[in-house]
Amino acid sequence: MVGTAHPTETLAVTPEERRKLLQELLAKRNAGGLKTKDRLAIPPQEIPEQDADARRRNVSEVALGYTEEQARLEALRCLQCKNAPCIEGCPVRIRIRDFVGAIAEGDYRKALDLIKENSLLPAVCGRVCPQEVQCQEKCTVGLSLKDVSKAVSIGRLERFVADLGRNGSAAVPAVAAPTGMKVAIIGSGPGGIVAAADARRAGHEVTIFEAFHKPGGVMVYGIPEFRLPKAIVRQEIETLKQMGVKIITNFIVGRTRTIEQLMKEDGFDAVYIGVGAGLPSFMNVEGESLVGVYSANEYLTRANLMKAYQFGAGADTPIARSKRVAVVGGGNVAMDSARTAVRLGAEKVYLIYRRTEKEMPARVEEVHHAKQEGVEFHLLQNPKRILGDVNGNVVAIECLRYELGEPDASGRRRPVAIPGSEFQIEVDTVIIAIGNLANPLIRQTTPGLEFNKWGNIIVDENCRTSMTGVFAGGDIVLGAATVILAMGQGRIAAAAMNEYLAQKKLTRRNAV
Ligand SMILES: Cc1cc2nc3c(=O)[nH]c(=O)nc-3n(C[C@H](O)[C@H](O)[C@H](O)COP(=O)(O)OP(=O)(O)OC[C@H]3O[C@@H](n4cnc5c(N)ncnc54)[C@H](O)[C@@H]3O)c2cc1C
Ligand code: SF4
Repeated sequence: MVGTAHPTETLAVTPEERRKLLQELLAKRNAGGLKTKDRLAIPPQEIPEQDADARRRNVSEVALGYTEEQARLEALRCLQCKNAPCIEGCPVRIRIRDFVGAIAEGDYRKALDLIKENSLLPAVCGRVCPQEVQCQEKCTVGLSLKDVSKAVSIGRLERFVADLGRNGSAAVPAVAAPTGMKVAIIGSGPGGIVAAADARRAGHEVTIFEAFHKPGGVMVYGIPEFRLPKAIVRQEIETLKQMGVKIITNFIVGRTRTIEQLMKEDGFDAVYIGVGAGLPSFMNVEGESLVGVYSANEYLTRANLMKAYQFGAGADTPIARSKRVAVVGGGNVAMDSARTAVRLGAEKVYLIYRRTEKEMPARVEEVHHAKQEGVEFHLLQNPKRILGDVNGNVVAIECLRYELGEPDASGRRRPVAIPGSEFQIEVDTVIIAIGNLANPLIRQTTPGLEFNKWGNIIVDENCRTSMTGVFAGGDIVLGAATVILAMGQGRIAAAAMNEYLAQKKLTRRNAV
């Protein structure tokens, strides 16, 4: 047995009761009598979590993961639909029905192998993918029970088998014989990691160039430890290294070397650009340059990558201790910032969002967790200006109240300011989390590469850019998107790159 009850889990059902239920269901299934109605009657398995009060004071992971009994019970809820609509909802088409079926059988190795056919980072995706608007939204169980939160918990099951795999001794993927071709991967986010792994497997010499001092992209510097433990990302990076991928950090392509130099002078035959969308947007209101105003990027990077939560003891870049924090925005980045501020010791954390909770782009689970941890939601409000004292430090934020008007281009109702509704909230820190844009560096230093009006690289369906031998994917192409979409594009780009390199090798050989 792999699962035991977690010490801080907050569940009503005892492990004994669960074990008994599982045995009854398995016996019924083995006798051929487990019907659809029996499966639909199995209670959805809640994931054990750290208690809300305890987790306000630590950065450890909130969700603790299923026990073995829970995983098998949850898997038995799956109806093994012939058409498997869940797969349609998955951006990388994981064989969900089959892997969930394998968990129900207790064959976890098979389940993991099935997932890995399409996803290289299951321990990450099982934790951070927005399943409730992807695979789980389409799940027949959720639709039958008329509640998407009662769909089969595909993400939690993915996480369960991925964690078992991580704890075992996973084999390093095989690498083909050397091709003599050199590939540069720019950026070490999920797209870059997948592209590097797939290119290396084909036998190319692969080097990742990363601007920061640690590889992993947003998974390391953006998404906090309490949602995605960094050890998971480190392990994936370690696997890449064991495969022979070279990783060079503190290397800014466009500054240290340009793409043209990498290709013409340093001998790289193909390049994948996966530099993400790391340029924070600001509100352009009075007071945004006061001391105590951060972009979410800066705040989260200081907290995650530079260990600011240690407040100087071992922190590369310490962070000021805030007492009253306003976070502006309603997406995952805003929730991550607010929940990080709680953990860094703020007494009050206000989340200011100009629409209602219904329109919030953040995952429902993150909103729920933020509320549990004491973040105070200020909805239908938006900053008009930030006020400072004589020394230029933030002392308050002035907001306007809003109401919802007609839907805008995004389909969401447009927030309309109510004139004369200004009011102030006393704060010492303001974190702006209203979105990210593409960093212009690659654009400024790569003539010949085509971009759209938002600064995203234009690619075809195989992630080929306008430059021969240059491929791109992830947020720099899609705008701020998701881990799984970046991974999916990394894979598509690597396949096209491998084909391109095979062709190039052939042409080179014929020319000799
Ligand atoms: C706070 C936060 C929370 C999020 N939460 C979720 C979530 O819950 N679920 C989800 O699916 N998605 C989430 N996302 C989005 C997700 O993380 C991104 O969509 C995904 O990481 C994009 O991957 P990518 O491969 O494009 O590269 P990124 O992860 O963006 O990494 C790009 C890398 O390129 C490096 N780089 C940039 N410029 C250069 C250069 N010139 N030279 C060398 N290196 C360079 C950067 O330092 C970075 O390491 C979140 C994003 C943020 C910011
Ligand atoms: S849609 Fe739901 S019930 Fe049907 S196969 Fe997929 S996970 Fe199972």
